[in-house]
Order: sequence, then structure tokens, then C-alpha cells
Amino acid sequence: MRLTEDFDREEFDCKDGTVVPSELMLNVTVLAENLQKLRDYLDRPVRVNSAYRTPTHNENVGGVDGSYHTYAMAADISAQDTTPEEVYCAIKHLIARGGTDGMQDGGLGYYGPDGHIHYDIGNVRRWTKPVGLAVPVCPLPEEEDEVTQEELDKLNARLDEVEGFNEGLVVLLRQLKEKREKEQAFHDRIGALMGGIYTGHNMHSEIIVNHEGRIVKQDEELDEVQALLEEEE
Ligand SMILES: [Zn+2]
Repeated sequence: MRLTEDFDREEFDCKDGTVVPSELMLNVTVLAENLQKLRDYLDRPVRVNSAYRTPTHNENVGGVDGSYHTYAMAADISAQDTTPEEVYCAIKHLIARGGTDGMQDGGLGYYGPDGHIHYDIGNVRRWTKPVGLAVPVCPLPEEEDEVTQEELDKLNARLDEVEGFNEGLVVLLRQLKEKREKEQAFHDRIGALMGGIYTGHNMHSEIIVNHEGRIVKQDEELDEVQALLEEEE
């Protein structure tokens, strides 16, 4: 029986052959829906090693008494061609993301570089087994609304047309702010341009653009600065 696009209920049945009981179908469906988000994000098959357990089977495999596995709310998983660290970090990222593309916060357990990842839709908990194991250090997720190369080329082409501080540059900077652009070469260029302009007008470039090229002042202030510069011309 299909639960989501890529997960069948059979994958969540107890390893002793017991089918997920009907009264736990809602639980296992929500669990599968969350795992589907992970599967979509990784774009790789996610293997469910152990999900629902009867209380007896749970005891036999040394599970914690009353484990979320016995409520069909937990799954021990791994993903194809993906390290446990990467799976762990992907789940953390998706929990942080929240919303319709994110995962529900719950239990997240790391069982070492050769182990599985436990995820459940129960209370919010984090742990490692063995206790004291260093948790994976997750890289900061990349910006998901980065400008495309095409947009970047367009912005750069506009910069070519810009001579000094003028309307065009203000528009560019607004676009830049909107896009939360991070591409370094482009920032260097903006920074150099802004620095040059402000030096020329005896002002400090940090008023508008910080060292990362991020705009640190509001548009109204950009307008004010522009008006000032126009007066001086
Ligand atoms: Zn587990």
C-alpha cells in the first residue's frame, strides 16, 4: 500500500512480519510524508531499515520501552550513496526550513559514521549513540534563492553602463539586495565601485555596503545619499 510517492507501508511494517496496525496508519502516513521531504531533498532513495515495531519485537531488539517505533512514529534510515552525517544534516536543514517543504521537528538520533539515523515525529529530542559521540558538524545550507548566471550577467552588463553613482546603480543595488546576491566577484566589483564613489565624495562606503557587499542601509537612505551626490555634481 502506497503512503507517498516513494514510500509503501510495507517498508514500515515490523521486521517480525507484523503489519502496521490500522489505528497507527495516520502516524505512519505522517512519518512517511516527512521522509518523502527528505527523499525529495536528497534526490536519492531513502532506505527504511526499521520503523514500526511490536512491543515484543522492540524489546527483542533492545529498543527503549515505549519507543516511538511502537507507535509507528519512528524510522531508522539510511540513504543511497549518502553518509549518515549527510542524512543527519539534511534532516536538520529540513527541520530548520519548516513549512510545506520542510520536515516536522521531533527526535533525531545519530548512531555514528557506520550507523543509521533515527528520525521520529514525537517530542523534540537530539541524541547520539553511544552517548558522547560527536554530532556531525553541518555545513551552512546554500542560499536557495541565489541569482542565476544569466541574471548575474545581466546585472554585470548594467554595471558596465554605470558611470559613477547614479540612478542605475541605485536600481542595481536594490536588485542586489532583493536577490541577496552572494557571488564574490560581483560583490568585489560593487564594493570597488562604491568605495571609489564614496572616497571621491569624501564619504565612507560602509554607509551602504559592508565588506561582504551586503547593503546595510535602507532604500530611503540610498535615495538621500544619491540626492546629496547630485547636489555636489
Ligand atoms: Zn530508532
